[in-house]
Parts: sequence; structure tokens; C-alpha cells
Amino acid sequence: MIDIPAVLDHCPRCGGQILVAVSDGLPTRADATPLTPQAELAALLDDRLTYDVQPLGLPRRPYLHHRNSWRIQAPRKWPVVGSHRCPPGPHFPRPQTKPVDLIIPIGHPIPDQPPF
Ligand SMILES: [Zn+2]
Repeated sequence: MIDIPAVLDHCPRCGGQILVAVSDGLPTRADATPLTPQAELAALLDDRLTYDVQPLGLPRRPYLHHRNSWRIQAPRKWPVVGSHRCPPGPHFPRPQTKPVDLIIPIGHPIPDQPPF
């Protein structure tokens, strides 16, 4: 299945910040804010899917992996986000902007004064 790493974008309907990705071949729009275990349970009860945000590749980019029961049961390794649902109420979408590529830094930055 084709996976495309997430980019940071704004929801065209409500203007909220969302991650747009392709996960297991399916276009995916997820909230950019990570969920606590309690918030993940609330999202699942609300019929929303949840995803692991796993950094992969070089440079590291965030890939969304659907959290099935196996992933939910295992200890958390990565931040968890829930699929996006526009909040109720009137929406005032902002003008469309270009999506932001997300690159996750790895390792320690090289110090200016090496210790040798
Ligand atoms: Zn929205």
C-alpha cells in the first residue's frame, strides 16, 4: 500500500490545523494536536480513527499508521493523533496556504566547540 508522509495544512472547511497524508493507500486528514490516552478513547467512542505518527526515512518525515487493536494494546512509541472532524458551529475558513513539509530532526545537533 502506498504511504505518503504527512504535511501540515489547514482544513478547507473550518480552517483548523490538520495533518494531510496517505495512510495504507487511503487519503487521511488528522488533527495536528496529539491525543492523550483518555482523548484517544473519547475519539474512538466518537467513531474517529486514530493514527500513530511514526518518523521514517531520511530525512525523517511523519507517516500516519492506523492504530488497530494491536497497536492500541501495545505501549505507545509515537505521538497519537485522531482523524479530523470539523468542530460544530459557524466556520470562518482562512485563505488557502501552501502545505508545510514536516521534517523531524534526528540525533544531537553538532556543538560549535567539539569536546576534543
Ligand atoms: Zn475542519
